[in-house]
Amino acid sequence: MFSSVRPVHLLLALCFVVGTLDRGVASAQAVTEGGLVTSRVARSAPRAAAPSRRTSRRAPAPAPRKPWLPKPGVAPPFFSGRPPIKTYRLNAEGELKLAQAAIDRMLAVKGPRTMQNTVLVYNEAMTHGENVAYQSHLLEAVHPDSAFRADCEKISQTSNKFLDDLSLNRKVYDALKSVDVSNADAATQYFMMRTLRDFRRAGVDKDEATRKEMAGIYEDLVKTGQDFDRNIRTDSRKIQVTPDDLAGLPDDFVKGHPAGSDGKVTLSIETPDYGPVIRYAQKTGVREKLMHESMNRGYPANMAVLDSLLSKRYRVARMLGYDTWADYITEDKMIGTAKNAADFITRLNDTTMRRAQEEYAVYLKRKQEDDPSSTQVNRWEISYYGRLIRKRDFDFDPQEVRPYFAFESVKQGLLDVTSTMYGITYKKIANAPVWDPSVDAYEVYDGAKLIGRFYFDLHPRPGKYNHAAKFTVRQGSKGLQLPEHALVCNFSGGKPGDPGLMEHAEVQTFFHEFGHLLHAIFGGQGQWEPIAGTATERDFVEAPSQMFEEWVWDPKVLQTFAKHYKTGEPIPTELVQKMRRADAFGRALQVATQAFYSAVSLNLYNKPPIQVSSDAVVAELEPKYTPVPPMPDSHMQTSFGHLDGYSAYYYTYMWSLVISKDMFSQFDKSDLLNPTIAGRYRNVVLSPGGTRPAKDMVHDFLGRDYDFQQFDAWLAGRN
Ligand SMILES: [Zn+2]
Repeated sequence: MFSSVRPVHLLLALCFVVGTLDRGVASAQAVTEGGLVTSRVARSAPRAAAPSRRTSRRAPAPAPRKPWLPKPGVAPPFFSGRPPIKTYRLNAEGELKLAQAAIDRMLAVKGPRTMQNTVLVYNEAMTHGENVAYQSHLLEAVHPDSAFRADCEKISQTSNKFLDDLSLNRKVYDALKSVDVSNADAATQYFMMRTLRDFRRAGVDKDEATRKEMAGIYEDLVKTGQDFDRNIRTDSRKIQVTPDDLAGLPDDFVKGHPAGSDGKVTLSIETPDYGPVIRYAQKTGVREKLMHESMNRGYPANMAVLDSLLSKRYRVARMLGYDTWADYITEDKMIGTAKNAADFITRLNDTTMRRAQEEYAVYLKRKQEDDPSSTQVNRWEISYYGRLIRKRDFDFDPQEVRPYFAFESVKQGLLDVTSTMYGITYKKIANAPVWDPSVDAYEVYDGAKLIGRFYFDLHPRPGKYNHAAKFTVRQGSKGLQLPEHALVCNFSGGKPGDPGLMEHAEVQTFFHEFGHLLHAIFGGQGQWEPIAGTATERDFVEAPSQMFEEWVWDPKVLQTFAKHYKTGEPIPTELVQKMRRADAFGRALQVATQAFYSAVSLNLYNKPPIQVSSDAVVAELEPKYTPVPPMPDSHMQTSFGHLDGYSAYYYTYMWSLVISKDMFSQFDKSDLLNPTIAGRYRNVVLSPGGTRPAKDMVHDFLGRDYDFQQFDAWLAGRN
């Protein structure tokens, strides 16, 4: 999470794009995003995982722990005492009181307002208020005790209300506005510009009756968003099949899914089951049935909740003087307007549809080898035939690479790669009393200097958030607190005796999320908490993490850690090259699907909700954007978690990708670990956090404005 004052900026967690059609990762529905953001108005709580086959095998109980204690003079990390809920709640209330006390102190100032007596005090208030919001949001998604999670939803509501009320507090706005910052450094001036703008975007300059009404809507919206997210994460559906129905699935999957006493095998729509089934199960009926459940997740409950989100946000937008919510929410993004977002999505469609149709024809041809009478390839057949086509035509089987990706080696490899690139070191904190025994805590050092901390919560367990995301614990603020962040994922491994052989897609997700984490730590060394770390424009924030995915496609980088779990042999270059060639197939279909999701997200929010039927929007757009026929009797929007978190701007993933492909062109492809280029990238793009417009940072890094060339070449399979 994240944030800054106004009702639309509390960024809760950064996550991965929803699954694409043919990656086996999941359908949009199964993966449902991850969340992001937001806040209060645009709040998105990540979903929690439902029990899956892995959840019954938790990490082993730890040996008795010697409690970890911070060094004298070092502020303790978050959760350093694993408090019971009562203590946790008291601490949270105490921290909100500190925030309020800072605001009171700031408003009581007599005489001239200065940085010292106003802006710094405001920063302090925001730091305390946002700490509570971030931390309760994390714990409502990961705490092993469901009662604790439920309590954290309430603390989330209270802290969001505090921040929303603050964003409408005219006295605070007037106080900040009257500080002369003309001699301040550029970061401070930019911070003040953003802060005052965001106060206005929240509605601070409306009359009192309007502000009161808005505060009520903001409060409602937090709850509506929580309802939307909770309905997704608790609707964990299962189907029953026979052991024969597992034909085609990998051996370790079959072993992990024994029949129950009734002779039936249970399959869940959660990623660890869904991904393999959709890709490997030979029986098309099994895939269809599981995907159908997945694409109805959250239905029917979320139909009305979504309508309510749309109408409340529309009301906010109208009160603030915008035609639609989409106009409002795009205004402070790189893209600037809803019209530009629509044009961008159209451009994606224009560039991809013809190629997507060509790819679709290849799928159909392959299917006709099995069934000559078939005239279409269904959604539940795309991943399956995609795998077969890659195997035969590109000589690539994703199972071939798994033995090189044992979880522990990948984790260590990721830490080593980033140490080399950025000259930093990681120190694992033994026995840190975190929220679950399976969670690891680390410190990050730049030379001898401690620059941040992070938590790895990387394997599934019951009730846990079920996608992959970077959560904020504390944003950095010089002199107040170090940046502290958590990666919450659901990877293979973490079980005794299991090497945890990861899919390459999981490795890619791990790098992606860690990219967010480093951005947050490098960008969390400045003064201003509300614009620290990943608090850049929301449609830029994915670019650094998407770019870092490139590292898992490079043979030399992979060979530093991807070693066969039995023989220790590094992954062969030829195997990586085959994987790359295979990856290029199906790319246009993949981007077409992302364009479709982007169009759904924008089109639900770019007109008065009275004119919007979410079923009709999906039904109208799908055939325009993808040649794959729709799944009958399904409602993808009810589990499309980004509709809460990102609301109208799902396009951000593709927009950021354009920039990420361009930034990557600056790196030396023969030596991606080169610390000189990485260091320049860190200084110019990551470390400034939200203290400069993204466009300017990218310009400085590239030595020119970004453009579409690299993205178009990638789409065409040329890189
Ligand atoms: Zn992300």
